[in-house]
Amino acid sequence: MVIVKTVKELESALAAAHNGHESIGLVPTMGALHEGHASLVRRSVSENAVTVVSVFVNPTQFNDKNDLTNYPRTPEADCAFLESLGADIVFAPTVEEVYPEPDTRTFSYPPTDAVMEGARRPGHFNGVCQIVSKLFYWVAPTRAYFGEKDFQQIAVVRAMVDDLKIPVEICPCPIVREANGLALSSRNALLTPTERETAASIHKVLSESLTFAKEHTIQETHDRVVNALNAIPELEVEYYEIVDGHSLRAIADWSDAPYVVGCITVYCGARPVRLIDNITYKA
Ligand code: AMP
Repeated sequence: MVIVKTVKELESALAAAHNGHESIGLVPTMGALHEGHASLVRRSVSENAVTVVSVFVNPTQFNDKNDLTNYPRTPEADCAFLESLGADIVFAPTVEEVYPEPDTRTFSYPPTDAVMEGARRPGHFNGVCQIVSKLFYWVAPTRAYFGEKDFQQIAVVRAMVDDLKIPVEICPCPIVREANGLALSSRNALLTPTERETAASIHKVLSESLTFAKEHTIQETHDRVVNALNAIPELEVEYYEIVDGHSLRAIADWSDAPYVVGCITVYCGARPVRLIDNITYKA
């Protein structure tokens, strides 16, 4: 495994693969790696000749300065973990390398980037498109792997790839959870052990709503989830939206879309830590 910090080094490390038309898998991450990231890397390693993992805490996708400052950073452990997973290239650039000049490009793919996270975190998906488009340009991957934990991110990246006609296959990967059901997230490191247990209720309540939904409307299911979670001290739902899984448009009736997903954001604990999760009602 090689660790490269500049785009030039990255291009050299990839030259043989590009010249030989070998398949290249890209796994974009912000580090503080866990088993969720590992599942993406393992899949890329199994499906491509070469796997590149980027580790970069992208400042342009943070709309909250404190969130950026507090974001966990564990570069040495990340590299050791990636080596054990069989990654070939780690691309860990500095902010100056990625953004020698402020990135003034704007990306807009409504409704995918306008609803839910897009509405609450202004500029977030613009920053995601800025970094992912650069990574796609520099790596020119055959496939790129994204976790379904960030469900909306996949829809926005797909919209960008369609718009720019980037020749890459987007590969969504299932959510990896702790034994108690909590979706793995780098931000879980900011939770106390008690808060981690409390946060497990998010998946529990969402899972229970699958049965409830069979006999109830979307509005009733929505309210049931929100009320159950808000009744738990330490948890506060920011939003719960039941949407068309492709367009991300909110739907009023279960029959309005063939693919229906519920997306949630919950604040947990004293800090508080912002956690996201989702569940599929209809696939
Ligand atoms: P991040 O480092 O949080 O930007 O995440 C990098 C990639 O890993 C994204 O595509 C995430 O969706 C994915 N990821 C993060 N947590 C999980 C998880 N628990 N299960 C599956 N994928 C995940």
